[in-house]
Amino acid sequence: MKRTFRNWGNTVVCRPQIHYPTSLEAIQAIVLQAAAQQRTLRVVGSGHSWTPLVETNDWLISLDHFQGIEQVDTEQKTALVRAGTKLKALGEALAAHGLAMENLGDIDVQSIAGALNTGTHGTGQAFGTLATQIETITLVDGRGEVQTCSATQNTELFKAAQISLGALGIITHYTLRLVPTYKLHFQAQKATTEELFQNVAHYLSTYRNFEFYYFLHTNTIQLKLANTTDTPIRNGGWWKKFNDLVVENGLFWLMSHAVRLMPRLAIPVSKLSAAAVPLGDYVDQSHRIYATQRLVRFYEMEYNLPAEHFKAAFQEVLACIEREKFKVHMPIECRWVKADDILISPASGRDSVYLAFHVFKGMPYRAYFDAMEAIMRRFGGRPHYGKMNTLHYADFQQIYPYWEKFVAIQQQQDPQGIFLNNYLRQIFQAETPDTAATNEIVSSLTPSIS
Ligand SMILES: Cc1cc2nc3c(=O)[nH]c(=O)nc-3n(C[C@H](O)[C@H](O)[C@H](O)COP(=O)(O)OP(=O)(O)OC[C@H]3O[C@@H](n4cnc5c(N)ncnc54)[C@H](O)[C@@H]3O)c2cc1C
Repeated sequence: MKRTFRNWGNTVVCRPQIHYPTSLEAIQAIVLQAAAQQRTLRVVGSGHSWTPLVETNDWLISLDHFQGIEQVDTEQKTALVRAGTKLKALGEALAAHGLAMENLGDIDVQSIAGALNTGTHGTGQAFGTLATQIETITLVDGRGEVQTCSATQNTELFKAAQISLGALGIITHYTLRLVPTYKLHFQAQKATTEELFQNVAHYLSTYRNFEFYYFLHTNTIQLKLANTTDTPIRNGGWWKKFNDLVVENGLFWLMSHAVRLMPRLAIPVSKLSAAAVPLGDYVDQSHRIYATQRLVRFYEMEYNLPAEHFKAAFQEVLACIEREKFKVHMPIECRWVKADDILISPASGRDSVYLAFHVFKGMPYRAYFDAMEAIMRRFGGRPHYGKMNTLHYADFQQIYPYWEKFVAIQQQQDPQGIFLNNYLRQIFQAETPDTAATNEIVSSLTPSIS
């Protein structure tokens, strides 16, 4: 039976037949059936990508019924994890074995496969994208064959599969490289843009995890700084939970609705948010510090740049906002990531800085994103695969040295193209027509599978 699928950002709405396999064998059977019937088969995690990566009106696999840790090796500090496992459950389960992921992004509702597969990242110049924490990958390819790869076995496939957008097969398991559990001392502080430019090198070298938010139309920066600590947990208790829910999410949601009704309020609301920027000082287990609640829905575009271009690029962003006075009240987020050697990772071959641009759901975003994207592209930008962008095959071919190599591996893995939807054809094949959904908002209804 077909059901309506909507992603978190409401940028993708489709009506697939959804399969919920509970074993590797069941996944294999679905792939074989799809190949025999010449169907399109996409796989979805938690539906938290804005780009139409999972869009299909044919078959969609969800691994929601294939979650959990199958094996833990506390000596080697590795765990064999089912690909559908959600990050929140994974963090808690690993902590019970005294283990943790070395770094994470800022939410924990994604599936592990969804997060790794789009190059999801946290911040900290000593850490790569989350996909660098993979030791082995097991997947079912387009012929229904099970393959395992790692840095020492089937290495070419491994380097491609670490970030592969669900185009090389359905990933069933990962072995993850882990570290002993650690606590983080997190601080949120306020600074000006001048102080940021003066001290950015200091923040990067002094703090394990450093990122910042910039409030448009102001001079205000919220710094987020974290280091490991042995001090006792001090997580703010119910007061922090109340503050996160009511002030950071509830009040901001109300103000955002007001801005959507009266866009001229964007500038005063951004100034108000900057004046009331939350400052914090907490200690907790790492996976709980990384995760924040995101109840206010938005559209996002995020670009990776070579880290050395941070200052020049961010100055251009500030100048453009000053000039154009975009009616946008949501802040820009900026994070740092270490270079890796994954075939099509945005951080491949370069220490990177990521700039993320946000617009409240249902508000016009095109002029702002276009202007920011043009700046990002001038500085050698590569888009986050899960976030809105306007790039096609020819653009990716230009910005990645190994795009063709990845496409060749994709064709070997999936000779019939069963894993390709219109969007993936647009980025992996020359001369395919635009898909309407790439960047256009198709609905503003509540996202879900219904
Ligand atoms: C509120 C919010 C906050 C976010 N924060 C961050 C952040 O801090 N850092 C960051 O980098 N990104 C962030 N993102 C982006 C997000 O991490 C990525 O888009 C991620 O891919 C979403 O994971 P998912 O489980 O929802 O995957 P989906 O969006 O469902 O799928 C993503 C891709 O993975 C593929 N896939 C899923 N499961 C499998 C499988 N078993 N085998 C093969 N392929 C598979 C899908 O086919 C698709 O191509 C955020 C997104 C939102 C909405």
